[in-house]
Amino acid sequence: MCAYPPWRLTRLSRLALTREKIYKTVARQMHGVVPCWVCGQHVPHETATLEHIQPLSQGGNSHLENLAISHEHCNNQRHAQTAS
Ligand SMILES: [Zn+2]
Repeated sequence: MCAYPPWRLTRLSRLALTREKIYKTVARQMHGVVPCWVCGQHVPHETATLEHIQPLSQGGNSHLENLAISHEHCNNQRHAQTAS
């Protein structure tokens, strides 16, 4: 559970599972509301994406405390802004 396989496919599927777990946890804590960490609005389940608060490229990790739910478009906008 603590080991972190370096293979990309494994990482992606693991993140997808993590996203489900975080989404359900937040929804339960917030009584059905899952706020987008970028814009603060509720994120419907089907558009939820998992965001690294501190990007991996800047030393972030994939632990729960560095992950948050955001809208797909908010996620994309953020990456568009930071990419140069
Ligand atoms: Zn948003």
